[in-house]
Amino acid sequence: MTAIRLENLVKRFGAFTALKTMDLEIRNGEFMALLGPSGCGKSTTMNMIAGMESPSEGRILFDDKDMNGVAMGRRGVGFVFQNYAIFTHMNVHDNLAYGLRVRKLPESEVDSRVKAIAEFLQLTPLLKQPSAKLSVNILQRLAIGRSAIVEPAIFLLDEPLSNVDAAFRAVMRTELKHLQRQFRQTMVYVTHDQLEAMTMADRIAVMDHGVLQQVGTPLEVYNNPANLFVAGFIGSPGMNLLKGSLADSDRGLVVNLGEMGRSQPLDPELVSAVRQSGSREVVYGFRPERVSLSGTAEGMPLPVTFVERIGARTVVHLGAGEQRVKAVFDNDAAVESGSTVSIAIEPASVRLFDAGTGIAIRGT
Ligand code: ATP
Repeated sequence: MTAIRLENLVKRFGAFTALKTMDLEIRNGEFMALLGPSGCGKSTTMNMIAGMESPSEGRILFDDKDMNGVAMGRRGVGFVFQNYAIFTHMNVHDNLAYGLRVRKLPESEVDSRVKAIAEFLQLTPLLKQPSAKLSVNILQRLAIGRSAIVEPAIFLLDEPLSNVDAAFRAVMRTELKHLQRQFRQTMVYVTHDQLEAMTMADRIAVMDHGVLQQVGTPLEVYNNPANLFVAGFIGSPGMNLLKGSLADSDRGLVVNLGEMGRSQPLDPELVSAVRQSGSREVVYGFRPERVSLSGTAEGMPLPVTFVERIGARTVVHLGAGEQRVKAVFDNDAAVESGSTVSIAIEPASVRLFDAGTGIAIRGT
């Protein structure tokens, strides 16, 4: 196990800055996901950790050892890419054995480790199969096995599941997490898929436009997004984000939401955070699953524009004009497109963001 520290890391390609001053600590044995949309700098960061690219500025440390000038082959990292790199002229067994044979391990140990990893990744019945004939799903599983078998201290995976089919991806999410628990490697996993990051990672580093936006456990980034980008990016559907301005009412501080009327009074903790921040123009955020159908006169009446029934859940699109809301209900929710429903938002789930900076307004 090895800890990784990125200090003031910057990467420029000519005049273009792909990564802007990144500081990140990845703990020993931690599963860290680098998550963000295409082009945000995830792979660039990963390639620098691997030693395939050199930083323009800053340092990468493995357990306090500066990696500057240390070649990829000497860093003790295993790397799995989106496009599986395996030897098609070898069978499954020999592909798995390759890294151990290069390291000149005795053949008896090679054989027992191949058997163990094949069992773990459910490749045992395929050991004698020529690799050229395997499906994409199995090839990617084999690529993961081939890297994992040499038990690198650091395991880097760059979108390893993006080419495999959806059902297999779900299986592999569980298997990769098990693999990491078993071998206790420090794992860095690049993905643009928030579901992958949420289900597997111990912590997630959310990135956008070459800037690290937030680092936290899946629940931290989900419950308390640091800014509007994270709030919108994490969650499916993402957080509802409505423009509003703060207003005093006889029942306490509320948010005036234009055509949607006024919010419920804000929780006392949020009121004191807002008063300290001095913000007046805000974005009022709440998760779609924190919305309920209200039977009381205090609910917010909204027209239903669209109803998506997706198995276990119903996603209801509500609102008019610019202010749009998504709500997630059980699959049997009695909501029809074209009707008007009254909704209530769980007060403790409300998050506020400064409309100018996009930064979350939080109590200390
Ligand atoms: P994706 O999943 O699409 O690869 P990403 O978050 O991994 O997204 P990067 O591949 O790190 O993004 O790229 C970040 C930015 O740097 C992109 O705008 C990309 O075009 C640019 N970039 C990456 N490599 C180079 C290069 N060798 N030369 C010039 N620009 C590059």
